[in-house]
Amino acid sequence: MEKIILKDIPDLHKISVYEANGGYKALKKALKKMTPSEVIEEVKKSNLRGRGGACFPTGLKWSFMPKDNSKPKFLCCNGDESEPGSFKDREIFEKNPHQFIEGALIACYSMGIKTAYIYIRGEYYKWIKIMEKKLEEAYKKGYIGKNILGTKFSTDIYIHKGAGAYICGEESALMNSIEGKRGYPRVKPPYPPQYGLWGYPTTINNIETLANVPEIIKRGGEWFASIGEPKHPGTLLFGISGHINKPGVYELETGIPLMTIINDYCGGITENKELKMVIPGGTSMPPLTKEECLTIKMDDASLKAIGSSIGTAGIIVMNEDTDIVKVLIRITQFYYHESCGQCTPCREGCGWLLRILKRIDEGLGRMEDLELLINISDNITGKTICAFGEAVALPVKWTVIKFRKDFEKKIKSEKVFLPPKNIVHGLRH
Ligand code: SF4
Repeated sequence: MEKIILKDIPDLHKISVYEANGGYKALKKALKKMTPSEVIEEVKKSNLRGRGGACFPTGLKWSFMPKDNSKPKFLCCNGDESEPGSFKDREIFEKNPHQFIEGALIACYSMGIKTAYIYIRGEYYKWIKIMEKKLEEAYKKGYIGKNILGTKFSTDIYIHKGAGAYICGEESALMNSIEGKRGYPRVKPPYPPQYGLWGYPTTINNIETLANVPEIIKRGGEWFASIGEPKHPGTLLFGISGHINKPGVYELETGIPLMTIINDYCGGITENKELKMVIPGGTSMPPLTKEECLTIKMDDASLKAIGSSIGTAGIIVMNEDTDIVKVLIRITQFYYHESCGQCTPCREGCGWLLRILKRIDEGLGRMEDLELLINISDNITGKTICAFGEAVALPVKWTVIKFRKDFEKKIKSEKVFLPPKNIVHGLRH
């Protein structure tokens, strides 16, 4: 299978190697042979969908930006990548950074944007340093800056470092963060193309999404649309971790069966154990049972059909020995810590879910706790400012429903007395 982003070319991260392999030719083609509208039409034709989790059609998103140039416009390249289980964007920063930069420049040209920000999570210090160097190289070669490649098109690209909040990966919180404010998600509408950074039209794209753009412009939207699953075409950078023999990032076509990834690419489950649960796209996605894993294909529509989602394609594999209650506690604890606190259902609900899960784990749970967990999850879903509410509620609800026996076993187990530990905000730590 031909790779679109993580190509098997040694030293592709170097600008000279990237240029020698056709790098920045798509930018030249876009600037010198295509109008901005033609670029957007080509991306629409490709049916490229956002790789940050929402799968929204990229060309359509770009077409929402106002065409007149009377106001400043901005592009935010989302490299926050804080979802547990997701670690693919840093592979692009490290292995093919110029293809992403070229994609961002083409996006700017198509929407008449003169300023772009790359938002990178602060913990990615190594990759921030890499990207600073790569931008410098591109500036020196005249690909970024004033009158790019001798045309009238000018754009600057800056790096903005995140300060370590998961919620700043949410697009409106990300914009607040760049503005120097607390990373609170905004109430929508208005949406970023109407009211984005500093109130001006803004588009936010994931790093992987933008890295696909140069090949689409070079080889045409129809070529891209013919790869993988037609409704969600192209390749995905699957970041795979957990109980598998060869964890890592694999670029594979959409629609590939999950078990092919696990067995053929990742060397199977460690110690030849049985599969128990898979999280298919980062921890905010509802999990899959072993039976679902046997037939599921990895694309947006297939996963939605069974009540989950492709998310960021960060796959976490768990074997038969996994304590599902403890896994859910770990995930919920993360979201409890990361809730920004603006909405009552999210702020309070995360803590309620965590407390109940902990008491089940300690052998102090009640059978009615299982309905209570589902009830609280339902009362968070759809009642919050941003999708973080669903990110915490849906995994809890569907893990309880799909792995009910694991929870019942703990509830029915012999009760143990645990002396009180430090109690902070009513939680046992
Ligand atoms: Fe903040 Fe949670 Fe509300 Fe999102 S859902 S705005 S993270 S409190």
